[in-house]
Amino acid sequence: MGKIVIVGGGVIGLFTALYLQEKGAEVTVIDRGDFTDGCSYGNAGLIVPSHVIPLASPGMLHKGMKNLFHRSSPVAARISPNIDLVRWYLRFTGAATDKHVQESIPVLKELSLLSKNLYSEINESGKLDFPLWHKGLLMLYQSQKMGDELHEEAEIARHAGLEVSELSAADIRKLEPDALPEVSGGVRYHSDDHLNPSDLMKSLIARLEKSGVKLIRHCAVDKIRTSGSKAIMLETEKGPFGFDQLVITAGMWSSKILNQLQTRIAVQPGKGYSFKVKTASTIHYPALLSDVNVAVTPLGNGLTQFGGGMELGFGDLKIRQARVQQIIKSVGEFYPAEKGIQIDHGQIWQGHRPCSFDGLPFIGRVPAFNNVFVGTGHSMMGVTLAPATGLLLTELISGERSSLDLNPFRLDR
Ligand SMILES: Cc1cc2nc3c(=O)[nH]c(=O)nc-3n(C[C@H](O)[C@H](O)[C@H](O)COP(=O)(O)OP(=O)(O)OC[C@H]3O[C@@H](n4cnc5c(N)ncnc54)[C@H](O)[C@@H]3O)c2cc1C
Repeated sequence: MGKIVIVGGGVIGLFTALYLQEKGAEVTVIDRGDFTDGCSYGNAGLIVPSHVIPLASPGMLHKGMKNLFHRSSPVAARISPNIDLVRWYLRFTGAATDKHVQESIPVLKELSLLSKNLYSEINESGKLDFPLWHKGLLMLYQSQKMGDELHEEAEIARHAGLEVSELSAADIRKLEPDALPEVSGGVRYHSDDHLNPSDLMKSLIARLEKSGVKLIRHCAVDKIRTSGSKAIMLETEKGPFGFDQLVITAGMWSSKILNQLQTRIAVQPGKGYSFKVKTASTIHYPALLSDVNVAVTPLGNGLTQFGGGMELGFGDLKIRQARVQQIIKSVGEFYPAEKGIQIDHGQIWQGHRPCSFDGLPFIGRVPAFNNVFVGTGHSMMGVTLAPATGLLLTELISGERSSLDLNPFRLDR
């Protein structure tokens, strides 16, 4: 495979580096930060085969539109004459059909189960050192309307072959005897796992450096030089980098880099926030507070991470306090013992999910350049899908038989 340069060292780039290095490639990962400032460090760390319904769905279209104009709503979308953003909205609306949902369910299920199995394999082999919890995921609800939606989704997931249980409020209080959530009921997805994303990233970085992968920090890639149907060199602030194969895994920034190769992919940033606190009560199970779109991730030793918010198309670094306060308020409504959580500004993490227009990632070769490959657009499932994406890209680059059909993920869809 020769010399491979990867642009972007988030969770997708680092898993790709891991598998490529194992196949004997000479791998360099270049990041404009220090590998800790993309979307992969402070996300909720949920590994979610349960999420078989893509973001582009009739239900999401309806829910999103209804919430867009509330300042404290978990969902916000930027209205601007930016041509890429307008094109994204049009393509998202076009993709949000029942037909697309039906076709995407088996695709997302296979991709996320492949990843889940790779996580277990990596964890058991000791290749990476991070805690991986197998506790499933609780989808909790307060309003009956949300309960009806969750039960409908659970039926779809069950039909797709996932193990799902319906829980009463009393069942949930038995699972959480300390926190005693204020809920009407919930659904438990036994398929799901969780991890601490910063532990995962640290262990990936340590493993890659130990095995000889070059990690280049604080080096923004500015320009890609090409010759005919090949990319030949990267120009960066630290000088040029040559390669045999180039992989772009730069999260929400990938589309801008790819524009240089006359390749357009419809990806927009979807910003969210999170913070970690020592909770007053012990929360044992990871959960999604479905009425308010807040993720709850217990990290051990009484530490819990709360996250949420989806600001679509902004791509800026501003922390919108109203959104963070809404997360705090929602947590108090679901877990009364956690009312009025106090956090400093410095505790708030923000990340930009790379949201593809149809809710499926882009994994494949750039059509006009036969030595350039892309892995991005994983939206709210980048951690879930990272090992599978790394493996699939490695198989594609090395010419091996693919573990899955890559057609749904091709760049020119
Ligand atoms: C609040 C929140 C909660 C989430 N929870 C979950 C969850 O529970 N489960 C899940 O599966 N997913 C979750 N996600 C989504 C997940 O975090 C993302 O899908 C994933 O981190 C994307 O990884 P990435 O490697 O594509 O991008 P990033 O992590 O953003 O990495 C891209 C990297 O590219 C670098 N880069 C960009 N441009 C350049 C350039 N020109 N030159 C060099 N380097 C460059 C950046 O510095 C960055 O390090 C969540 C996201 C948010 C915001």
